[in-house]
Order: sequence, then C-alpha cells, then structure tokens
Amino acid sequence: MSGGDDALLFDGRSAGARAVDVEVSGDALIIHAPGEDVREWPYSTLEVLDRGNGLRLRSSADPDSRLRLSNSLSDQLFRAAPKVFSSGGRNRDQLALIAALTAGAAAIGAVLFIGVPLAARPLTLITPPSAETTLGANVSGQLALIYPRCEGPRAQAAEQAARPVLDRLYNSQFEPFELSFHFADTPVPNAMALPGGYVMATRGLIETLDHPDQFAAVMAHEIAHVRNRDALTGLYRSAGLGLLLDLVTGGSGLGQQIILLAGQATSLQYTRAQEARADEDALRLLEASKINPTALAEAFERMQTWSAGQETAGPGEIDLPEWLSSHPDTDKRIERARAVGDKGFASSLSQEAWETIRNACSD
Ligand SMILES: [Zn+2]
Repeated sequence: MSGGDDALLFDGRSAGARAVDVEVSGDALIIHAPGEDVREWPYSTLEVLDRGNGLRLRSSADPDSRLRLSNSLSDQLFRAAPKVFSSGGRNRDQLALIAALTAGAAAIGAVLFIGVPLAARPLTLITPPSAETTLGANVSGQLALIYPRCEGPRAQAAEQAARPVLDRLYNSQFEPFELSFHFADTPVPNAMALPGGYVMATRGLIETLDHPDQFAAVMAHEIAHVRNRDALTGLYRSAGLGLLLDLVTGGSGLGQQIILLAGQATSLQYTRAQEARADEDALRLLEASKINPTALAEAFERMQTWSAGQETAGPGEIDLPEWLSSHPDTDKRIERARAVGDKGFASSLSQEAWETIRNACSD
C-alpha cells in the first residue's frame, strides 16, 4: 500500500537516502530496499529520533541506519505500536520541551496561579513545534479510531487533487509544520485541524458542499487554526497539566488517550474567539490566494441546510458537526463572509479535480 516515496532509508554506507517500501506488520517494520535482503525492525527495538517533516527512527537491530516515514506511515505505526511513541525514555522533542518550559517559567507560574485555561495560550507559545507534531501524530492515530480514514487509490487520488489548493493556502516553508491532509469516512459534514498540522475533512463534508471553492474555504478556516496552533491551545485548556506532563515526561500516553476517547473529540472544540479569528484569517487568506472568499458563506449555508434536514430525523441521533456546534453565530458569520464580496476569481479547482475529491471515500 505504501508507495516508494513514503519512506527513506539512510543506511550509513551510501551518502544519500534511498526510497524504500515499508510494511507496518503485527510486530515489526518490514523494510524492502531494492536489490537487498529484507530488513526487519521489531517494534521493541525502535527509537523515535525526531519529528517534523515526517518521523525519523532507528532500530537497535540495525544500528547504523535511519529511517524516515511519511506522516501516513507514521499514523499506521502509531496504530500498530503506540508504545514506540511514548516509551523508551526522553527523546529530543521532550528535552527541547523541558528546555522551553524552563525558559518559560513565567508561563508555568501562570499555570499555578491562574490555572490552565488562561495559561493555555502562553503554554502553546513555549511548546516547540516538534513536540506539537509528535502530539498531533498521536491524536491523529486516536481520531482514526473514531473517524476511520478513507483509504485506497481513490482516496489517494483525492488527496492529490486537493493538494494544489492546500499548497496555495499554506506554504510549509514559512510555517512550523508540514500539512498532513486526509479524508475520513464519516457521514457528518465536518473538518478538523489537529495539533501539528494534521487536517481532516469528512466524506459528509465533500458530499454536502457543491463547489470546490467552498471546500477551499473550509480548508482555509482549518489552515488558520493550524497556523494559530489553536488545537494545541484547546487541548491545554481542556486537558491541562495532564497533557503537559505527558509531553514533558513522555509518560504512558494514557493522558492523551483519555483526551479523545472519553471526550469523543469534543476537546478539540474551540472558543468563540478562536473561531472568529480563524474566519477572519480564512477570508484574508482566500482573497490573497485568489479564491472567492464568499465561498466561506456558501459552505456555512450548505452545512446549515444539512443540519436542518437532520433535525427531522429524530433528536439525539446525529452528532452536530463541530463546525456548527461550536459556531453558534452561524448567521452572523455568513453575513460577515458575504460582506467581503465576490472578487470574481476563477474557480480554484477544475470540475474534474472536484469530482476526484468527491469520490475520495467511494470504493
Ligand atoms: Zn473552526
């Protein structure tokens, strides 16, 4: 399933890295490098070196080599062997975080005296992006248990079709994170930004929207959350010191499991202030990227129509998308986005690309 460019192997003998195929099996990573014997790295031998642009690992079974996994392979590894991400002592991320926390003693003082909610934002600011990416990989792995990823050739084609628009809105060279994007097979129209640049859009969303610019507008809103690191702030606010301790100590990871499974992802909800700012940023970002900003208003309207249709289906049976439930002033937000006015830009994606996106989760 993994394409050749999903993983790179540095074997310590040749100068460069080679593209290899990596299989995430029951108890080991199986590495197929062209023209040589298969390498087996048991999960118990793995050590995470760092994260950022992918996940870098080594194995005591093959001490000279280093392996870099794509975020999608790293997600698979998290699902197969979550311990790899939390055991084995402190890695560089955690040491960097401890250093940052020491330097940010004032913010820690704020935690002790005013409690986490008000200190959540300062805590985000002193958290190194690499530590946030590690957390994002964990959260993304957990979220996949609730919202299964759309997989297979159509999902891959759809992710590729969405790339040009994501790249227009987000230039990772100037941002703390690479953007990792995928579709989830869930009927509720929703999109979510997780810590560390992980963004997800549901099947329900692409079925509910009827123009690629509306999809771009939803993505612009999520990308604004990524840039503002809102998800991490939200998690600090709701999970507080437990999360902080987990990040610092590389603890059992239990705190992080509890966040999503007990909270049913509600801990990823944002405050009204964060939402308002993400809307404003999205409108500016769309205009700067020459994508029609009024598409944000249309996206809201489509989702409102969807949710009005659901209410007749019987209360308690649907869970309202985060997009509307944490956005109580939807009418006001529509008005605001309409006020920017149609800029007469061409459609952000071809009809063909849009069809490919809409088929992301149909096998
Ligand atoms: Zn939002």
